[in-house]
Amino acid sequence: MDNLPKGIVNIIEFFSKFQGIGKKTATRMALSLLNKTPEYHSNFSKSIANLSSSVSECTQCFHLCDKNAELCFVCINEFRQKNILCIVESALDLLAMEKSNTYKGLYFVLGGVISPMDGIGPEEIRVKKLINHLEKNIYDEVIFALSSTMEGESTTVYITDLLTKKSLAKNITRIARGISLGSSIQYTDENTLQRAYMGRSKV
Ligand SMILES: [Zn+2]
Repeated sequence: MDNLPKGIVNIIEFFSKFQGIGKKTATRMALSLLNKTPEYHSNFSKSIANLSSSVSECTQCFHLCDKNAELCFVCINEFRQKNILCIVESALDLLAMEKSNTYKGLYFVLGGVISPMDGIGPEEIRVKKLINHLEKNIYDEVIFALSSTMEGESTTVYITDLLTKKSLAKNITRIARGISLGSSIQYTDENTLQRAYMGRSKV
């Protein structure tokens, strides 16, 4: 890398900041950019420059949506089952649930799990917003689909306790632990996720 021109080294540094992308892959990506046209480069950089001004959060579930839209593709869909709510950690987890093609209700994107080791408490994720949401909306079932990690487990228990104390949800379930221990929803294959959803149980 030391023998590459500064312009490429700069790009490599950007790419290598991505999760799961090592220096080698970053170098390959940067070099393959060189094979693209100047027009591609300009469109690429324009898209990145516009990213934060073109993307927003759904006002209802906090999934990503277009800047000017109030609701995401799930919340705006009138055919979704409005009486069940699935709590997921991230937009990626929501997409994984959607891909499993089993769940037809609404979501709430928590924005992470409680992890004291990483300095993430209930205030750092959307626990309060979830409570507000459940104070305004009544569901027949609230389903937890958080990672089967220690943090995911304790977040499920923490929020379930809160909801029970406030009598905010009468029927709280979690997806089955068919998902291998320690794994995240987004890395779970569709069939496993389908089975986990079908086999959900009371928290
Ligand atoms: Zn939404």
